Amino acid sequence: MNIVVCVKQVPDSAAKVVAEGGKVTWGDAPLVLNPWDEFAVEAALMLQEATDAEVTVISVGGESAKEALKTALAMGCGQAILISDPALEGADSRAVAQVLAAAIQKIGNVDVAFFGKQAIDGDMGVTGAQTGRFLGWPVLSLASTIKLEGDKLVIERSIEEGRQIVESSLPAVVSVSKDIGEPRYPSFMGIRKASRANIPVWTLADLGINAPTPLVRWPDVVNPPAREVKTEIITGDSPQQIAEQLADKIMEEKVL
Ligand SMILES: Cc1cc2nc3c(=O)[nH]c(=O)nc-3n(C[C@H](O)[C@H](O)[C@H](O)COP(=O)(O)OP(=O)(O)OC[C@H]3O[C@@H](n4cnc5c(N)ncnc54)[C@H](O)[C@@H]3O)c2cc1C
Repeated sequence: MNIVVCVKQVPDSAAKVVAEGGKVTWGDAPLVLNPWDEFAVEAALMLQEATDAEVTVISVGGESAKEALKTALAMGCGQAILISDPALEGADSRAVAQVLAAAIQKIGNVDVAFFGKQAIDGDMGVTGAQTGRFLGWPVLSLASTIKLEGDKLVIERSIEEGRQIVESSLPAVVSVSKDIGEPRYPSFMGIRKASRANIPVWTLADLGINAPTPLVRWPDVVNPPAREVKTEIITGDSPQQIAEQLADKIMEEKVL
């Protein structure tokens, strides 16, 4: 069995992201493996343990994205591939999906392609479904458990009303929710292996495709409007007096 996990490198969730001149910047904040993709890696490794599968982690991005791939290798993925090409500058999610689909086809004989729920920077949450569309594969979203039953993939989805069981044929695209379980920490051996890994880089020419034309444009990106916040420290001679003042303020502001 062959499993692929698609991961994105994103600015750390603690980074202060600001829009400047229609462009997004996060200064020199560290770049990390997209936190939602850690759950996708965990799901892939769980399925690997149950089936003895090969797990390949792939990313579309710049040279720096090798660090995100190394995190996934350190967690236990067997091999990593970076897809990088200057022609992908300004790609939209459909273009990224087209490239991921071509890479999955080049890897060959892939049974399951795992995705995270969404990237914490782009936040579109559509790349997995779009990749499935390019591949012509069924797409199962937000899996909280994953099992292989014969030649069927069976997943459970946690939804507000309960749990939904969904099954499909293979090959399939699966996006993973955080209910899959806590992603494992990279092992010491894994970190050593990842630090020595020589990650191959595939270009669009290697995939045999031209630069996909972006159809969705982001003509502008702006910061949220500044919110005026008034802070008042309530003091008093006793906790009761402070509580009474606090209750009056809450009523005055019509919070309750
Ligand atoms: C400077 C800049 C300009 C941009 N301009 C545009 C624009 O004009 N129009 C536009 O539509 N988008 C634009 N983007 C967004 C960019 O193309 C998105 O990264 C892409 O659309 C993927 O969407 P997402 O990041 O929201 O991922 P989501 O759809 O939220 O990701 C879902 C899952 O897909 C997988 N995934 C996502 N990205 C990758 C990847 N690169 N490699 C491997 N797996 C991945 C991960 O598993 C992830 O959890 C721009 C981005 C930047 C940085």
